[in-house]
Amino acid sequence: MIIPEDYAKSMLARYGLVTPRGRPAESTEEVALIAQELGGQCVVKALIPTGGRGKAGGVKLCQSVEQAQQAARELLGQQLLGHTVKRVLVEEIVPLAGEIYAGVVVNTATDQIDLVLSLAGGVEIENTARDNRHSVYHLSLQPGDLLPVHRVSRWLGENKLDPARVPDLAHTLVALYRAAADLDAILLEINPLAIGQDGRLILLDAKLEVDDNALSRHPELNSFFIASLSPRELRARKLGVSYVPLDGDIGVITSGAGLGMATLDLLQHRGLSPANFLDTGGGISEDMVKGAVELILEPSHIKGAIINLYGGINRMLEAAKGIIAALENIPGDRPLVVKILGNQQEEAWELLEPVSNVHVIRQVQTETAVDLLAGLLN
Ligand code: GDP
Ligand code: MN
Repeated sequence: MIIPEDYAKSMLARYGLVTPRGRPAESTEEVALIAQELGGQCVVKALIPTGGRGKAGGVKLCQSVEQAQQAARELLGQQLLGHTVKRVLVEEIVPLAGEIYAGVVVNTATDQIDLVLSLAGGVEIENTARDNRHSVYHLSLQPGDLLPVHRVSRWLGENKLDPARVPDLAHTLVALYRAAADLDAILLEINPLAIGQDGRLILLDAKLEVDDNALSRHPELNSFFIASLSPRELRARKLGVSYVPLDGDIGVITSGAGLGMATLDLLQHRGLSPANFLDTGGGISEDMVKGAVELILEPSHIKGAIINLYGGINRMLEAAKGIIAALENIPGDRPLVVKILGNQQEEAWELLEPVSNVHVIRQVQTETAVDLLAGLLN
């Protein structure tokens, strides 16, 4: 999940890192008020979960309250880089003596944490990194490594950084590394880490992406997680099922994560492309299955679906009723291969077999169900 810049900065400030004065606003009036508090001069930035705002006109340096209001009118409610700007961040202008790029990134290719630094930070960092790779320094760390300040200082020294800069920069990098580890960040990127005219390092921007799987450790981030979900993911959450959208065109429902992954593998193996992973878990009810079938069959690009359920604590008659209730709402003749086994299997089969586009499989092997679906689609 991506944490909005204003909240990311407030969390980073707890680590002794310096952030500009200011706060977010949702209306022109609020922007004017904050601009006034800051003495007129301020930066108005679109709060959207993406980078590249500077180049796209989403960061406006204003010299007066009037200019700040004008900037707010130009940004609020507008589309920018594929997002609607609902909030802006109003901050003091920091006079710049330099822009540094500092990042802490989980490197999934090496399973290490990369500390990335460039003295050529700013909005051109991607080009700089491509054209002049030597201007970007990397330090790879094992997850869980302690990072003492002296280790960073030595690293900075080896890379010939101005010795006068080393102490402050080393402390800042260590604080960023600690924050990234504490917050289970996949990515923490400060660009620019501004060198203020008094030489202090200030976090002008902050991009923070936290691992969704770590949500239970960060309950304060729950609202950002919910906000990051698509409408379909939200529906799945309300139904109480695990749901992951995928790129393909075959809907999938299973009653177990292992069964689900095996079903996805077998579909792929047979040349079919799953449109989702959906695991009901052990709480099947008629309503849950109805909702799940609607969820996976609604998109018009779906060519067919496989429902692969095992009834232990789950009662399969409930599942069958749910499938039928959903199909009453979703007409069409797309094939639905249903493999139901276990608790109440006969009752479920009897109910489903008369339904025209439902193909009931009574065998144990998922391969049989996948083969049947593939045949029906050819
Ligand atoms: P991004 O383009 O989405 O990464 O947005 P940033 O927040 O990084 O802003 C883009 C650029 O605007 C920065 O690289 C700075 O050059 C400039 N900028 C942002 N805030 C300030 C500020 O307070 N003072 C000055 N002088 N420049 C700023
Ligand atoms: Mn930036």
